[in-house]
Amino acid sequence: MGIFEDVMLNAKTVVGTVGKKAGEIVDVSKLKLAAADLKGEISQKYQFLGRLAFEEMTTGKDYSKNKEEIADKIKELKAHLESINDMIAASKKKIKCECCGAYNAKGAVFCNNCGEKLLNNQDETDHMSPDDVIDFAEDNFADDELL
Ligand SMILES: [Zn+2]
Repeated sequence: MGIFEDVMLNAKTVVGTVGKKAGEIVDVSKLKLAAADLKGEISQKYQFLGRLAFEEMTTGKDYSKNKEEIADKIKELKAHLESINDMIAASKKKIKCECCGAYNAKGAVFCNNCGEKLLNNQDETDHMSPDDVIDFAEDNFADDELL
């Protein structure tokens, strides 16, 4: 059972560090790191779940309690991952589809994934980056008007 305890402890560490700071982190690279950590943790849990299932099949032991515990942990980690992905998307000003949860580029009208109409904020012009302003100008003005 040593391995089992290791895996659970590891998950606690990740959730602890990410969960506490989640509200404060604004640095996208930190968010991405945290998301990568969580993804790693989740796939580890999946692997371990599979291993327990294998042990059950080959030894006849009952690991259903442990499996439930791991499944709960996976749900918890996934919730954390989702909130981190939300923060990353928000920092990139991407739009999350209300229907399927996929992220779409700002200004997109329909979801890339499911085709649902996206609820865009109408105050885009207030938040234009320099590149957006150039794009907007190129799209909307003839060359002679810019000079
Ligand atoms: Zn969608």
